Amino acid sequence: MIHPENDEQYKGLKVNRGVHSAPSVSPYLVKRQPRREYTSAEYTEGILNGNIALLSQAVTLVESSKAEHQQIAQEIVERCLPHAGRSIRVGITGVPGAGKSTSIDALGMYRINQGSKLAVLAIDPSSERTKGSILGDKTRMEELARAKNAFIRPSPSAGSLGGVARKTRETIVLCEAAGFDTIFVETVGVGQSETAVHSMVDFFLLIQLAGTGDELQGIKRGIMEMADGIVINKADGDNIEKARMAASQFRNALHLFPAPESGWKPIVLTYSGYYKLGIDEIWKMIDDYISFTKQNNSFFRKRSEQSKYWMYESIHDALRNSFYNNPSVAAELKNAERQMLDNRVSSFVAAKRLIDIFLSTIK
Ligand code: GDP
Repeated sequence: MIHPENDEQYKGLKVNRGVHSAPSVSPYLVKRQPRREYTSAEYTEGILNGNIALLSQAVTLVESSKAEHQQIAQEIVERCLPHAGRSIRVGITGVPGAGKSTSIDALGMYRINQGSKLAVLAIDPSSERTKGSILGDKTRMEELARAKNAFIRPSPSAGSLGGVARKTRETIVLCEAAGFDTIFVETVGVGQSETAVHSMVDFFLLIQLAGTGDELQGIKRGIMEMADGIVINKADGDNIEKARMAASQFRNALHLFPAPESGWKPIVLTYSGYYKLGIDEIWKMIDDYISFTKQNNSFFRKRSEQSKYWMYESIHDALRNSFYNNPSVAAELKNAERQMLDNRVSSFVAAKRLIDIFLSTIK
């Protein structure tokens, strides 16, 4: 039909045929399916096949504090355990600015280029307070972030150091089951977290810097004692000589420490993470350590000790959680605290009362 306004009498005016206006929602967009719930067997199968999406999802379950997530996470960990353990686990620590991320990038790419699959995990108990971890952040490891055979996961953010560390330890199991043969666990060298990392790795690498004059100042003796290798970073340009001097200071200092149980003598090296100088020597040190400790069996002894440590840590964690989450305990906790602060009862009596309440509810 001719539009009336297209009548001859309206010259200069033409009304075109209308078009349907485009729908505001694309007709090709199918309704999004809610994410399918996988069973622990399906997760495990995916992980064993190296499916990274399923590995990531399983790690998220491990990290979750929801009871139903924990349940399935524990099942997955259990199923993956027989396939875990076949990797080299390296702990890496150093103060902020020491060059951890630059070095992890360089050390990691070196290994990947040799055909390895590398997982980079982190333990940062402060991340809950600072909202967001600075460790294990992909943007800090440019090459690894793009590498096909690298899996980078920032620190789990929830809970106590013990809780965070346990989650990382379980994540190691999942990564190993997924075929990652090299695991890095990164932490900042300023506090308690080194002990947690030390208790889950085979080799503990301490990154240091030269150039402060008194090199050993500010380094906790305990951290140096844990190190299987100390590497002085930024040995490039004008800094090479200073790094060498720092290395010999560290070597002298290490003589004063008791010999480690494994019989391995910690090695001090200089390198440059940024210019990728000396990376091969660091790997040679780690590989030498692994064959040395495997030969004298201390490698396996250490892993057994670590498993024992984590069994007790898990018991302590579970007991603590069930105590504080117990409704009868929670109802009385503040009251007991107040009475103790008012000097009406001693701390021991207050504690005993709460524990008695707890024990009476679980009988
Ligand atoms: P992190 O805080 O320990 O992770 O340290 P980063 O890897 O972020 O490095 C801190 C700073 O030191 C950055 O500006 C790096 O570019 C620099 N840096 C790291 N490694 C080297 C190195 O081998 N040589 C030099 N000259 N600078 C480096």
